[in-house]
Amino acid sequence: MSRVYNFSAGPAVLPEEVLKEAADEMLDYRGTGMSVMEMSHRSKAFAGIIQEAEADLRELMHIPDNYKVLFLQGGASQQFAMIPMNLMKNRVADYIVTGQWAKKAYQEAQKYGKVNKIASSEDKTFSYIPDCSDLPVSPDADYVYICENNTIYGTKFKTLPNTKGKTLVADVSSCFLSEPVDVTKYGLIYGGVQKNIGPAGVVIAIIREDLITDDVLPGTPTMLKYKTHADAGSLYNTPPAYGIYICGKVFKWLKVQGGLEAMKERNEKKAALLYDFLDQSSLFKGTVRKEDRSLMNVPFVTGDEKLDAKFVEEAKKAGLENLKGHRTVGGMRASIYNAMPYEGVQALVDFMAQFEKENL
Ligand SMILES: *Cc1c(COP(=O)(O)O)cnc(C)c1O
Repeated sequence: MSRVYNFSAGPAVLPEEVLKEAADEMLDYRGTGMSVMEMSHRSKAFAGIIQEAEADLRELMHIPDNYKVLFLQGGASQQFAMIPMNLMKNRVADYIVTGQWAKKAYQEAQKYGKVNKIASSEDKTFSYIPDCSDLPVSPDADYVYICENNTIYGTKFKTLPNTKGKTLVADVSSCFLSEPVDVTKYGLIYGGVQKNIGPAGVVIAIIREDLITDDVLPGTPTMLKYKTHADAGSLYNTPPAYGIYICGKVFKWLKVQGGLEAMKERNEKKAALLYDFLDQSSLFKGTVRKEDRSLMNVPFVTGDEKLDAKFVEEAKKAGLENLKGHRTVGGMRASIYNAMPYEGVQALVDFMAQFEKENL
């Protein structure tokens, strides 16, 4: 067996320890005589799995008691509709558009009410985070929406926007559990887990209880009401059981690593290795304004499309996979999530240095 260093933006690298544990339990989960995949979601064994997963996540993120943790389906993209359907009581919301995902959420919300784009970085291909200290927040806005880490463009909000008292809603798909977070600053934090936590198919939503009501937009399907899932402890219908099980294992892995403080330190060290290399390189250059750089997604270019393609191809041969950038940015992107070891980033930087020598 040989495993590569996988720099995919998502689905993405998972901790090897977690995959091995899951393999060990594949045929017989702890004496039940069956795989978690074969198990009733109403069984005692699965109740243990989902309850422990929630408890571990609460511990990792210090989630206050007045927030619910929901394990949902439909991907992060389904939240683009679910959020306005549930939260847009006045039918007004403000969006900060810092990339494709924020833009898609902004466009979807327009189906449900008056949606204001109160800031954007589209003028420079989303390569920075706009100043959000004094935005024209709408007095009747139900919430202010951000995508906190922009997976495609490699930018991250280092300070949260001043929402002037309005509820903050954040898509954290690609920075979930990468560093400590103050949950009380948000009304709703959500993300698809396939970037930094687990397998595709699970969305985690952490939502303040007062936002979970029956007062949703007319016609909202039962399955798209937060209250449906909150009332049923995420077991209204069959949840993505195996995915939740793997997420639970990743939470335990994170606790063993030292929690989110330790992950932040480790992620900063990994990102610094790559950004420091980029900053001194004569061939490669980062595409993001320095102060807005993501710890998770690092886009870079050579400035020559043919050379970029050659780099991606040769990197693959060297066991460094999925480095091709998003089509709207071009070049390369290295996603260096929690489960990417320091050695993986070191291998990438060594390869880049070698490639630079041979191609400059
Ligand atoms: C990947 C991604 C999405 C889309 O996730 P799906 O689960 O495929 O719908 C949304 N937001 C961000 C920030 C992402 O990185």
